[in-house]
Amino acid sequence: MASQDILVSEVGPRDGLQSIKPILSTAAKKAWIDAEAAAGVREIEVGSFVPAKLLPQLADTAEIVAHARTIPGLIVAVLVPNAKGAEAAIAAGAHKLTLPLSVSETHSLANLRRTHEQVLAEAKQIADLVKAEPEETRPHFEGSLSTVFGCTLEGAIPDAQIARLAEALMAAGCDEVGLSDTTGYADPRAVKHLIQLVRGVVGEKALTGIHLHNTRGLGLANALMALECGLTTLDASLGGLGGCPFAPGASGNIVTEDLVFMLESMGYSTGIDIGKLLAVRQILRENLPTEPLYGFTPDAGLPLGWRTAQ
Ligand code: ZN
Repeated sequence: MASQDILVSEVGPRDGLQSIKPILSTAAKKAWIDAEAAAGVREIEVGSFVPAKLLPQLADTAEIVAHARTIPGLIVAVLVPNAKGAEAAIAAGAHKLTLPLSVSETHSLANLRRTHEQVLAEAKQIADLVKAEPEETRPHFEGSLSTVFGCTLEGAIPDAQIARLAEALMAAGCDEVGLSDTTGYADPRAVKHLIQLVRGVVGEKALTGIHLHNTRGLGLANALMALECGLTTLDASLGGLGGCPFAPGASGNIVTEDLVFMLESMGYSTGIDIGKLLAVRQILRENLPTEPLYGFTPDAGLPLGWRTAQ
């Protein structure tokens, strides 16, 4: 297979941390981000601009963004739940903003207390804030279609509804949309189907990334299908940190170490030094001693003769 550049987006400092109880110190978060960037990770979702009282774990997001911005070449991504969060994210200097829109309206109401129309209105406001920034420093704005592979409250979501919402996010002013398997329901066939469905509505350039969980062990199979369909950005979390609120005992996002191992073994270029990446786990082990860390590659080690494609 021809070498191709794949962007592995580390989401552990946001998605991983937001679903665990022990608070990771600001210093440890900075050390984690520094070490991953030094291993060659080029994009990190470092936090979320939600009210501190709702999510104390991520209360230091502005400080973390300011720190991450000092790392040359690193794309500093954040989650924003609404326009107010986007304002704070832009003020802090984030390079990429992601607004989740749950395609299940029941889930949207339960989690954000907002209807689809209300979330789309926030998307429009965020797009206006983004466009008011000078072009050189304007952040990238993604609308993430969450629960797109199915919802714990509604089950499967009709294709027509997904297509309509993808189109509406672009019409609101998003630069692109993403697919998010919030609930760990995805399988490779569904991945292919949804990529084709959404690209059919927004075009190829406006869907480049996918956010996968490994809840039922299909994470890498789903990632492989996404690659074969032409997606180039894959979210993952170091050590699969985070677990799943819907499936006690299950791992969280796909494991960054295993994903990088698969990609580099296949001849894709990620720019990541896997040896250095594996060493970053020590920071989590020391600072979050009660949290399980997942991953097969870290346990098994690299095969004899294996080398990074650098
Ligand atoms: Zn997630």
